[in-house]
Order: sequence, then structure tokens, then C-alpha cells
Amino acid sequence: MRKHKTATIITAVAIIAVLGAAVGASAMMYRNQNLRQQAAGCIALGTAPLGTLTDEEKASLVYMVEEEKLAHDVYTALAGTWKSGVFEQIANSELRHMGSVSMLLDRYGVADPTEGAKEGTFINKDLKALYDKLVAEGKASLAAAYKVGATIEDLDIADLGKALKVVKNEEVARVYENLLIGSENHMNAFYTQLKAQGGEYAPQYMGDDLFGQIIEGKAGRIADGQRGMMGGRMISGLYGQGRGSNCINANCNCK
Ligand code: ZN
Ligand code: ZN
Repeated sequence: MRKHKTATIITAVAIIAVLGAAVGASAMMYRNQNLRQQAAGCIALGTAPLGTLTDEEKASLVYMVEEEKLAHDVYTALAGTWKSGVFEQIANSELRHMGSVSMLLDRYGVADPTEGAKEGTFINKDLKALYDKLVAEGKASLAAAYKVGATIEDLDIADLGKALKVVKNEEVARVYENLLIGSENHMNAFYTQLKAQGGEYAPQYMGDDLFGQIIEGKAGRIADGQRGMMGGRMISGLYGQGRGSNCINANCNCK
């Protein structure tokens, strides 16, 4: 019973990860907003009885939603500077990531710092400083912009990995695991582009081993030992076959 429920939630969140890769580069802001809402609605279906959240888990969600916003806002700024569809496409994916964390904040009655916030504004001062720094760095050259992308995904992967070690709530863990898969894919995409520009990236936040696995195309797996339960197991609908093809609620139009 519990296993089935878990699988259902994974399916719902896996769809969000899949959608992230499927969006064309021409999406406009209004459509983006829509995507964010769709993501939130889609996950919300997994309407298992409300669990409990510790203060630490609440703080983690508040931080992570702004970190996803950091990714979205920086990529959106860089999409305006460089003619590379990669930034816009991944920015759309980040909007869904924000949506999935926002949904959890809403579900558990925690104030969402991104609610009504403009691009480039953050409650967390460190993230605001990082936004300013990374946007400035990314405007120097296309290679620098891709490096900024890799830096953000590096931070995201490291923070999600740390969070997964302390998060007990199943829904939060599922969402984080899927954000992690998305981030690994994004890292791979930025790294590939960076290499094509003659650049190189060394991890600043995550471990060298995990970075090595990701750029070898093993994204979609959570590194062995990172979280015992999911260690090394394929959990992504993006790579797994025949999973995540349907929403679990008839009212959901997330496809
Ligand atoms: Zn993300
Ligand atoms: Zn990302």
C-alpha cells in the first residue's frame, strides 16, 4: 500500500522532470507562469494525507524554493544576453522546480518567499548576492554563461544532496529527488555546451565522484550511498521506460 503510494508520487513528480526537457525555446513568460502552475497542480494530486514537517524541513523548503528561483532568474537574464536556447529551456524547467516546492509550502501552510516576488529579488541575502554575481559573470562571454549554469547546478545538487540526508517527510524527499535528477540533467547540458566552447568546469560544491558520474551521462541516478533507500536506483521517468506517462488525476493537464 505504502509502496504503491510512493510509486504514484514518484510518477507525478517524474512528469515534471520530463516536461522540463520538452519545452521549446520560444515559450514566453505568460506560458512560463502557466507551466509553474501546472507543475504545482500536477504534484498536488498525490494527495496523500498530510504528513508532518519539522522546522528544519520547513526551512529547507523555504531555502530550496528560492534556490530554484535563483536558477530560473539567472538563466532568464542570460537568455536575454545570449542567443542560446539552452538558457530559456532550462529556465522553464526551473520554473517547474519552483512550482513543485511552492506546492509543498502551500500544502503545509508555510509562507512562500517567491510568492509575488520579482525576478532578481530574494529574501535570502546570500542568494541575492549570488544572483548579482552570477548574472554579471555570465554576461562576460557565452562560455562564462555556461560556466555560471554549471555553478548553479553544482550548488543545487550539493544542497539537495545535503537536504535529502535530513528530510524525513516522504513527499519532500520525492520532490527533492526529482529536482536532483533535473539538476543532474541541467549540469550535463551546461557542461556539454561549455566544453563545446573550449571551457572546463571543476566542481565547487559537489564531490568530484558525483560530478564525474554526471558528466559521464549517468544523470538520473542518485549516487550510491547518497540516500540509502534510493541508492544507485534509477528513479527518473526521463530515463526509465514506460513510467510517468499519465497524470494520476483526471483533472491534471500537466502533459
Ligand atoms: Zn532546479
Ligand atoms: Zn537546474
